[in-house]
Amino acid sequence: MSDTTERKRMKKPLKIALIVLLCVVLVTGVVFAGLAIARAVEIDRIGDIAVVGGYKNVILLIGDGMGFNHIAAGRAFLGVDELFMESAAVIAGEATTYSRTIIGPTDSAAAATALATGQKTDNGMIAQYLGKDLKSNTEYAMEQGMATGVIASEGVKGATPAGFSAHAFNRNSTDEITRDQMSSGIDLFLGGAKDFYDDYAGDIAASGYDYATAASALDPAADKIWGAFSDIATSDGTDATPTLADLAVFAMNYLAAKSDNGFFLMIEESHIDKRSHSNDMKGMLEHLIAYDNTIKAVVQLAAEMGDTLVIATADHETGGLQYNGESAAELSDAMFTKGSHSTANVPFFVYSDIGAVPNIIDNTQIARICRTYILNEAA
Ligand SMILES: [Zn+2]
Repeated sequence: MSDTTERKRMKKPLKIALIVLLCVVLVTGVVFAGLAIARAVEIDRIGDIAVVGGYKNVILLIGDGMGFNHIAAGRAFLGVDELFMESAAVIAGEATTYSRTIIGPTDSAAAATALATGQKTDNGMIAQYLGKDLKSNTEYAMEQGMATGVIASEGVKGATPAGFSAHAFNRNSTDEITRDQMSSGIDLFLGGAKDFYDDYAGDIAASGYDYATAASALDPAADKIWGAFSDIATSDGTDATPTLADLAVFAMNYLAAKSDNGFFLMIEESHIDKRSHSNDMKGMLEHLIAYDNTIKAVVQLAAEMGDTLVIATADHETGGLQYNGESAAELSDAMFTKGSHSTANVPFFVYSDIGAVPNIIDNTQIARICRTYILNEAA
């Protein structure tokens, strides 16, 4: 066999491999382009929902990672037909949660961006798209002269609270997010991660915030407040570890007294997601019930205050939780089917009369409903 023939024989499989590779690249490209176009058309179709009436104050609660089966498990655990969040709702439905990221479910950053700005973005981005800041309802509210607040049961640098109070290309840019929040003009930040914020205490104070690490140190007369606690208790709150409901009630009273033009407040229960990531049923239920108790405290105080719109929802489902009629004793970690987010729709509840809302809406439409009331533009 000559050298040339040998070389030709070696080349043939190489050619086939190249052609196969080229085909794979082409097909993948066409599929991705198709998905991208379909997603863009889907996003373009989202319209505003005509809502009616007017509310002075707007409160949005977000249970991070809470799907319908989380609620079903909560009912079974408590032995009730409905959680408070369900029984008190004037309107209940479900929301789609997808982000601009084509493959897979949304993350909390893109979902928070959708719920805060009414616009879709890619996973990981905080109220930004293609390098451009997206205006959040918190910013719209400040322009209207409303008081504003952001509360979370994790540090407020987390993706969900950050979506309502900062702009960043990457949700992990916590220093950038924290500094953006300090100069945001938002009246009140309350959350966990005290150890993290202690390092920023000087800068937080220099930005005009009263820095507090105990509930008793929250001063209702302060111009602006930044509370960071070692932990947010799910029940039996203490001075050092208040509950989310305690913080929500303080915030509502503080913000109501601050402005004659009303307030916009976002409240997140952050750990339903984290416990679902680790498939921890008991821990998930503890935080789900804390979220339900927070909604109860908020809805009851809102009724006393009057003129207050309260909406509760989730940013995405976490854990692919399955529920098939299990009793309280049968609830188990094995009911989670994954350790990540799913594409399942999430519940939304409205606790005030706002007119007719379709049963299935998109998460961006929740932001647009809030904005309609912030701008006082409802029919
Ligand atoms: Zn998550």
